Amino acid sequence: MQNKINWQKVGGLLPVIVQNYQTCEVLMLGYMNEEALAKTIAEQRVTFYSRTKGRLWTKGETSGNFLNVVEMSLDCDNDSLLILANPIGETCHTGAESCFHQFDKTPDWIFFAKLERLIAERKGADPSTSYTAELYAKGTKRIAQKVGEEGVETALAATVKDRAETICEAADLAYHLTVLLQDADLSWAEVIGKLKERHE
Ligand code: AMP
Ligand code: ZN
Ligand code: ZN
Ligand code: ZN
Repeated sequence: MQNKINWQKVGGLLPVIVQNYQTCEVLMLGYMNEEALAKTIAEQRVTFYSRTKGRLWTKGETSGNFLNVVEMSLDCDNDSLLILANPIGETCHTGAESCFHQFDKTPDWIFFAKLERLIAERKGADPSTSYTAELYAKGTKRIAQKVGEEGVETALAATVKDRAETICEAADLAYHLTVLLQDADLSWAEVIGKLKERHE
């Protein structure tokens, strides 16, 4: 990949877009020189060339908020790079998750991915602080029971053709099913992987 880049064309600095690998949110944009790219590839952790600092800058070097590389790809004419990353903590130095404003019109599935991440974070939290943490504390049997209940409620609402109620119950089901998966140390990625497998 490195030898495909025309460093002269980009003036020695390759524009790099970093996206969250789970939600596809654009996290930040930075520049890499050859050395920064080599370090990023070697460490599988994003290092830029900071034009302000005038040196290599590993994102997270002081904050600990690293960007771990999941996948990288050059664009069609090899003069910019897209990185899918697993961010540790917030990416923006303002404390925001991303350096960019997140639009309301982003695909709804992104919300679902964020919800799953939040549900995962609730594991082991104080049960008095959140309903999700309380569910985990009650244990697998209770979680499984809720999924059963919400499944039946969804089916009943659909049977009587109550659209509003079907939406509510399907939301309850999706949420509790996500908790069930997390409780089993599984994620939607694995479920979707199975669906993809069957689709082939
Ligand atoms: P960090 O790389 O997270 O350890 O942060 C070190 C310094 O880099 C911060 O004090 C900021 O000056 C700068 N910085 C961190 N994150 C960003 C960012 N997303 N965009 C621009 N500058 C940043
Ligand atoms: Zn290009
Ligand atoms: Zn920022
Ligand atoms: Zn319900």
